[in-house]
Amino acid sequence: RQIENRIADRNAQMSDDQSVWETDNFPWSSEAVAVLNETFKLNTFRPLQKSVINAVMSGEDTIIIMSTGGGKSLCYQLPAVLAKGLTLVVSPLISLIQDQLIQLKKLGIEAATINQGTSAQEVTRIQNAMIDPKSSLRLIYVTPEKLAKSKRFMSKLEKSAELKCLKLIAIDEVHCCSQWGHDFRPDYKFLHMLKKQLKGVPVLGLTATATGNVLADVKAILGVETAIVFKAGFNRENLYYEVRPKPASNDAVLEDLLELLKGRFKGQTGIVYCFSRKECEELAGELRQNGVTAGAYHAYLEPEVRERCHERWLSGKVRVIVATVAFGMGIDKPDVRFVIHHSLSKSMETYYQESGRAGRDGQPATCILYYRFADVFRVSTMVCTEKVGTQNLYSVVSYATMTSGCRRVAIADHFDETWDESWCNKMCDNCRSGKKASSTVDPLKFLPTAKEIIQSQTTNTKNNSGRVTAPKLAELVHKKLSKTDSRESVEYALARLILDGYLAEDFHFTPYAIIGYVVAGSRRQMPDLSDSSHKRKDNDSIASSSASTPSKKAKTVKEDVIHLD
Ligand code: ADP
Ligand code: MG
Ligand code: ZN
Repeated sequence: RQIENRIADRNAQMSDDQSVWETDNFPWSSEAVAVLNETFKLNTFRPLQKSVINAVMSGEDTIIIMSTGGGKSLCYQLPAVLAKGLTLVVSPLISLIQDQLIQLKKLGIEAATINQGTSAQEVTRIQNAMIDPKSSLRLIYVTPEKLAKSKRFMSKLEKSAELKCLKLIAIDEVHCCSQWGHDFRPDYKFLHMLKKQLKGVPVLGLTATATGNVLADVKAILGVETAIVFKAGFNRENLYYEVRPKPASNDAVLEDLLELLKGRFKGQTGIVYCFSRKECEELAGELRQNGVTAGAYHAYLEPEVRERCHERWLSGKVRVIVATVAFGMGIDKPDVRFVIHHSLSKSMETYYQESGRAGRDGQPATCILYYRFADVFRVSTMVCTEKVGTQNLYSVVSYATMTSGCRRVAIADHFDETWDESWCNKMCDNCRSGKKASSTVDPLKFLPTAKEIIQSQTTNTKNNSGRVTAPKLAELVHKKLSKTDSRESVEYALARLILDGYLAEDFHFTPYAIIGYVVAGSRRQMPDLSDSSHKRKDNDSIASSSASTPSKKAKTVKEDVIHLD
């Protein structure tokens, strides 16, 4: 009680200044350091870990946004030990749960999980421990699916909360709640029950990526509107960002890649992200044929095969892992020297997260994105049914098509941070080559020709079959203007025109595939082309690019302009 009063006093004195949370005069401060050193065998806290621990120990709902590898797990594992009660951890994947259980066991911290594979006996043992104030069980891990499905488990949790055994609810990868995020999972929606049914237990949400609207959404869904939000900076100083033009032929891409792997990245370990399982396997095979030890990793592999592949890479037997997005959460290899995206990511968040697996050890590392115009439309037909799929895709296309200006500034912008170009230290291709924020080709120059072609293609046929896809449009525009402009600059211009809403993608659903056509966008060209005020900065276009709303019926739908802000 005495402690509770002191906490109440402290809370009354709290200002908005978050630095108070980073201090050492909380009732548990000295014990927290002791647990850090003796139980977790770590020397010092990393930035914000202490703040989060102090906030949750004070009973506050808290959200921590910190890059992957920043050390979020400790923010609930250490309080779980300190609080001497039970912490519920909601985690999206059983494999992630298993990893943590193994680590905790090594540290001598008692933890358990309940999932489909858990024996009845074990379930009983755990459920008894949940309502036993003397139990030494500290953490219990579940997936959101398990929570949503098991009424019995939910009622045990309620009992545990009533008895004050349950001290904290930690929700890992909390951005999965939000449909605005890049990784939405329906079962995370169920988590709104936690705050309602387990009254008085603080909630800690953890994520590596949450833009403003995702964060607001997460708070509303979980019912933690007043949560304290800690956000670590997004800049990864040691990462060099680069975009490479992706050749049209696969052979040429392979050649370029091999040159990198045998030259700049000789002898180093890294990841190459691909679009599909098929691409992964083909590319891994081709790399091996060319003397690079490489393994393919994707969701269709048997769990054991996948695990073996991961282990061979961790131990250095395999130098390059060629992976789909399935190779993601929970990857924790410190000395990844390069992350190469062979194809475009689905969103800026995904790109930031995936590329961020490089250089966890703080040593210089490189993040390369191969970009070609045609890839945009492979991804767009895949994501067009997601709520903001097209918009998220356009954010990364916008990044990829920056012909000048600091890439770090664009990344920071995306995460609502403000960045100055001078902080980049020439750690991006544009800064290194000294290109300032102004581009050489004006995309609007191509708009009349593009619209003319779209028009002629549409009126040519009554049914929609004659309409023009983006790569076709690029070809036709280029044909008309080939004397003056390269194919690359036409493609660049068309991408910008789509991003800026002058043109738009329009998706058609056939029984076999989704086809994207280019149509006129909702944005009109200003009469005076020499007036630059209608041109926007790269980053503005992210929030205002227009995307067609997909319709289940195979007919044209008017494009909507979706405003994020
Ligand atoms: P995240 O969940 O943010 O991606 P993790 O919790 O998995 O990150 O931690 C990443 C790595 O950082 C782990 O190997 C962990 O042991 C290490 N780590 C966490 N906190 C500290 C610390 N205070 N000092 C040193 N290493 C730490
Ligand atoms: Mg984590
Ligand atoms: Zn830069």
